[in-house]
Amino acid sequence: MLPSIISHTSRIRFNVLIPGVTFGPLTYSHTISLGKNLSTGDVVMVPLRKKIVYGCVWSESEQNSCKAISDDAMREITSVCRDFSLSKTLVEFIDWVARYTLSHPGAVLKLALPLRSYDRKKEPAYTIDREKFLEIAQKKTIDPKSPIGALVAAEETTAWGESYNDIAMPLSDWQRATKLSKTSLQSLIKNKMFIHADERTNDALKIPIADRAQPRTTGLEFLSSSIHLTDDQDSVFSEISEFLCKDKFTSILLSGPTGSGKTEVCLKACEQVALKKKQALVLLPEIALVKQWSERILKYFGAAPCEWHSNITPSKRSAAFFSIAEGRSKIIIGARSALFLPYKSLGLIIVDEEHDHTYKQEDRVLYHARDMAIVRAKLEKCTAILASATPSIETLYNCNSGKFKNVRLASRYGSGTMPSIKIIDMTKCESWLSPELHSAVKKNLEDKNQSLIFLNKRGYSSLFFCKSCGFRALCHRCKTYLCVHRYGPLCKNRAEDSLVCHYCGFNIKVPDICPRCKSYKGVSLYGIGVEKAKEELSKMFPSARISLFSSDHLSSEKQLSDTISQIKENKVDIIVGTQMIAKGHHFPNLTCVGVIDADSSLAVTDLRINEKMYNVISQVSGRAGREEKPGEVYIQTRSAQNPVLVSIVNGDFEKFAQQETKNRQDYGWPPFSRLIAVTITATKDEDAHSAADALSKAAPKYSDIDILGPAPAALSPLRGMHRWRFLVKAPKNVNLQAIVKNWIESCKLAKNIRIQTDVDPYNFL
Ligand code: ADP
Ligand code: ZN
Ligand code: ZN
Repeated sequence: MLPSIISHTSRIRFNVLIPGVTFGPLTYSHTISLGKNLSTGDVVMVPLRKKIVYGCVWSESEQNSCKAISDDAMREITSVCRDFSLSKTLVEFIDWVARYTLSHPGAVLKLALPLRSYDRKKEPAYTIDREKFLEIAQKKTIDPKSPIGALVAAEETTAWGESYNDIAMPLSDWQRATKLSKTSLQSLIKNKMFIHADERTNDALKIPIADRAQPRTTGLEFLSSSIHLTDDQDSVFSEISEFLCKDKFTSILLSGPTGSGKTEVCLKACEQVALKKKQALVLLPEIALVKQWSERILKYFGAAPCEWHSNITPSKRSAAFFSIAEGRSKIIIGARSALFLPYKSLGLIIVDEEHDHTYKQEDRVLYHARDMAIVRAKLEKCTAILASATPSIETLYNCNSGKFKNVRLASRYGSGTMPSIKIIDMTKCESWLSPELHSAVKKNLEDKNQSLIFLNKRGYSSLFFCKSCGFRALCHRCKTYLCVHRYGPLCKNRAEDSLVCHYCGFNIKVPDICPRCKSYKGVSLYGIGVEKAKEELSKMFPSARISLFSSDHLSSEKQLSDTISQIKENKVDIIVGTQMIAKGHHFPNLTCVGVIDADSSLAVTDLRINEKMYNVISQVSGRAGREEKPGEVYIQTRSAQNPVLVSIVNGDFEKFAQQETKNRQDYGWPPFSRLIAVTITATKDEDAHSAADALSKAAPKYSDIDILGPAPAALSPLRGMHRWRFLVKAPKNVNLQAIVKNWIESCKLAKNIRIQTDVDPYNFL
């Protein structure tokens, strides 16, 4: 317990957890006087090595009585942020996630406090004197070559003024924002155009970077929206609404076919929460969907939501952070990391497309955002809505066992009907594009409707090989085939094709001769990627306007939103896209969808492979005929009898889900059991192998726990690192984390060995 009333000045020790630091919490002392006590969750600045960094008070130190380090030697907390802090619930959530995922809480805290710490001595921060700037900018006679002239000109070209108003940043960030040279900026500092941040803030709090850009659109008072639900939607909404009113934890699965208005119902729920002055968080599986949600919110409520994902500029990011922490933003649309932010009062979490496996974070803290959203909602005592047309087997299981409530929309909104789906057997077809699909696209062009060719392969060709000697280009670090890229940013030199590794980014020019037999004639490309599909389609349909929708070609927020607008404005006839296009987009004129190579991913060993295939194909099919015009879908495959494809054609998700659930139950896979994957990584294969053997010898022996492995990982080496894996499987009621933790800690492994534990793994490579 922390003392709540301190009657005199005293020096107390606190344990401070530092974001991104995976040791500690570290102990610091703090002198507190009347009424200024610190408590768990308070945000502070502390010295760490040579820097001053953000930290969070985790607890009062238990060492207060034992004087192992004298008070004088103890380092002091530098300053305390009094504007916002992490709630008890959030601290509890962070500890919970850390325990569950077997991560250090410092790594999880980084997600909740993603603020950049500056070395204040080395990197002082500056804000611009906006009034002074505007005054000078309005004068007609500024020398464009002078620093101030350059700054004025830069506002027009880089629009820094739009977003960097009122923000304190170090010089290096100003350089990036304004594109001015360091000397120009320094002379502007001399002229007091830029002011040292410490001189400006009155410094009671000494939070170093008072980056508080006043958001323009977030946090507006919400008036009622213009949403009018249909009867079916309204009855679903009333069920949800009842829970929203109760301020207690409930999780609800909102299912229904694509285009049935799930989003509409969710927006209505957001409205209800915002009207109660609480915050609603919407998690989306892909950044590409954020724009669409934002636009709908803007249209309905007259205010844009607050966005949180990796594609926003640093200044927007910190503005968003503070408006979330201070409760000014009411609707927040974000990627999975938004789940950890310090919301002032969270009233609802929506996980859209809940079945999407990109919700599993595969880096640093390995968490599943959908599952953790449920945990956070539980701790915050609020409602969680999981929305999907094709819910995951895990979520259906939770509905069946009564843990989740299931509400369902029966049919598509308005005149929208489900598209007709046809399987095309490609075993006898020589070309990558079947005659049926070709004529459908042709007809669609004549009718001035849009077509989508879906091909889940980035780049131009999937393989570079030599016909003379059989050589195949492999990545030397990952032992996977290199893909050929002809267009887009991955071709370093626009005129030349590049060979690219999709796992580690290795990138070289395509050789003119075979590196092995030196033959000119033998070199060939095999397999078709989206770039080649586009090239061939432009030959087949020279007048068609074709657009590539792939992450390589739409890497910036602007490129992406421009392309989406072009499609919506009918400036595109054919879209060639990877799975980036499959989810959520609503293009009114898109009526024909062709799926190329539907079975390409079938060989991979993954317990969710059928689900993934069902989802991606039914989602991409769901892009067709979303308004009055009926849609048609052609699925090209070499295994036309595949039961997954057959249930897609019949639109029978329930049957598919039942079959999948039964398979999982028969083999004892999740959700009927629990899994943890353990991966051992080292630069040398023999090191990884012998560490795996050592672990194997120390493996816990319980009758109900299966330890599969060790086996070399399917992708090994990966990025030059050799990997061995275990898969640990146990009944649901076993505390598997504790067992795995003890197991790993009981083995003293060499320093060059890295062990990663993945609780509830989705990646089996
Ligand atoms: P889902 O999320 O289930 O795929 P959406 O909410 O995106 O479905 O709805 C599909 C389309 O139908 C959208 O263009 C949406 O604007 C429209 N729509 C759905 N319900 C309504 C409604 N009640 N009033 C007006 N338009 C609606
Ligand atoms: Zn060769
Ligand atoms: Zn590689």
